[in-house]
Amino acid sequence: PEAITVQELANRMAERGADLVKALFKMGSPVTLTQTIDQDTAELLVTEFGHTIKRVSESDIDIDSSSDVDADDTLQPRPPVVTIMGHVDHGKTSLLDAIRGADVVAGEAGGITQHIGAYQVTLPDNSKVTFLDTPGHEAFTEMRARGANVTDIVVLVVAADDGLKPQTVEAINHTKAAGVPMIVAINKIDKPEAKAQRVREELLQHEVIVEDLGGDVQDVEVSAKAKTNLDKLLEALHLQAEILELKANPDRAAEGTVIEAKLDKGRGPLATVLIQRGTLRVGDVFVAGASSGKVRAMIDDKGRQVKEAGPSFPVEVLGLSAVPAAGDPFTVVENEGRAREVAAYRQGVIDRKRTTSAPVSLENMFASHA
Ligand code: GDP
Ligand code: MG
Repeated sequence: PEAITVQELANRMAERGADLVKALFKMGSPVTLTQTIDQDTAELLVTEFGHTIKRVSESDIDIDSSSDVDADDTLQPRPPVVTIMGHVDHGKTSLLDAIRGADVVAGEAGGITQHIGAYQVTLPDNSKVTFLDTPGHEAFTEMRARGANVTDIVVLVVAADDGLKPQTVEAINHTKAAGVPMIVAINKIDKPEAKAQRVREELLQHEVIVEDLGGDVQDVEVSAKAKTNLDKLLEALHLQAEILELKANPDRAAEGTVIEAKLDKGRGPLATVLIQRGTLRVGDVFVAGASSGKVRAMIDDKGRQVKEAGPSFPVEVLGLSAVPAAGDPFTVVENEGRAREVAAYRQGVIDRKRTTSAPVSLENMFASHA
């Protein structure tokens, strides 16, 4: 395979040559700008810098951030990925549980079964919505720190008997900063002391203007306890998703993000992965953070074994070499040698990051709609 100089590669990647030299040094290849590196090393660098590689021919690679974008005619609609945020005790967990219970498929399968940190609900019209079941702020912080882009829509839960609270305002600010659309679920409307209109007015003070007050933020009055208007909330999400025209190419090597991971005594390291592009299949070789492996089996949110998982689908993956971290990128690669190589390199990057403090960007946890 043809070689390329570090400088030339940096030019094609629109990165600083010095940064590439530094990264190469960390990989154990001390080279200067004018020296050449082989194609495999180049590919590794490109991947690590967050670009995507297109092998134009055996001897050339095209590195362009535009190659990271799938061609329009490959794109197909995908379900929205939703995160529920709000103040403690306003009903986030209750709402997630109630929505899961409203899933027609889960109903058929005999109710709530497996819990994998994310689940997908099928609406009566057969459209789907994926919910991230992130437990608390820690998971968010972890995801953000790792630059994971996963959320398309935020559902802001506000208890109608309590109104806006500090964490509500925090959630509003995070969502706005990220440019992610929001739907407000005014919860606990079963309570006699519920004041939904007051919530709308308080939101106005934070420049969240609901439709009733002339804005474009959808709001739905719900009760997670009495299971009131859950269908309306799902409809609102469906509508918002249509406005966003969420699409992904299902016919490519899978890419996604680790939502959560753990070590299971019997089954070894397990990761819940949200697929974001492409389709993951049993037998695929992958890298998940600094862990690599081959998909031994996949289990969906209802505890069923599945053979493949497409865009916006959350699955538990078996067959990892180690436990990755929440927010780690999950990428299918061509073979096991390559998987080990990328994993080993990432391990080096992770070790280095532990000694420096990486800046945390809140915006990164949300998908970009630009
Ligand atoms: P989280 O901290 O936001 O996850 O809130 P939880 O889901 O744990 O709910 C906090 C408390 O509010 C629990 O005691 C719930 O039973 C109660 N709760 C949640 N939703 C409703 C609702 O719609 N109506 C009433 N009356 N209580 C609710
Ligand atoms: Mg909770």
